[in-house]
Amino acid sequence: MRLKKIIRIVAVGIVLLTLASCSATKKTSQKDSQLPKNARQSDWNLKVVNVKHTISASFKPTLSTVDNSQQVDSRVVTSYNELRAGAAKAGATLVGGSGYRSYEHQESVIARNVAEYEAKGMSATAAKKETLKTVNPAGSSEHQSGLAMDFVTPSENAAGSDVTQAFAKTNQGKWLKQNSWKYGWILRYPKNGKSSTYIDYESWHFRYVGKANAKYMHQHNLTLEQYVAKLPK
Ligand SMILES: [Zn+2]
Repeated sequence: MRLKKIIRIVAVGIVLLTLASCSATKKTSQKDSQLPKNARQSDWNLKVVNVKHTISASFKPTLSTVDNSQQVDSRVVTSYNELRAGAAKAGATLVGGSGYRSYEHQESVIARNVAEYEAKGMSATAAKKETLKTVNPAGSSEHQSGLAMDFVTPSENAAGSDVTQAFAKTNQGKWLKQNSWKYGWILRYPKNGKSSTYIDYESWHFRYVGKANAKYMHQHNLTLEQYVAKLPK
């Protein structure tokens, strides 16, 4: 009897200790995963633009020129320059290849692609359908927000070449992937992100979201869409 009682007491003790340590672990992980204070879905720097969240033709942010050629939302210029300075310090010179693009610009890109397909003998409807497989409809390109930048290397830029997947293997691409979040910028279209972003992996496209948001998204491996869904309105 006595031995049974001792065993029961020891068993209860073990259960209680296990429960206590579990709740301690839970508390720590909850603290680690705390969302940035005051972050809201409606924050200007968290604006989601994709095929399901389009912006109006008239949307145009206040713009500033960076890199002597590209335009971005004026509110991100300081951060953009810090990002480039950080990369340069690590030996990776970044060139902004494409920043803000207007609604009309996107329309003209579509029109050009449609015309090319039509010239190959496609009907207007088929040409439009084919074009929209690779080009976002006007109003659904994040470039219209002024918060995104496609980067190229100085040699790509000098050659006048467009963005390519080869960027991922350059010093610039590697540095950005590892460090951009420290400056408030995220790799916007990561590998395996398509189910939420609707866009394939783009190693060159970076998006400003602010430091606290970028840090959280980086730590928890979230796309902008997945992160915003966690926030209060
Ligand atoms: Zn882009």
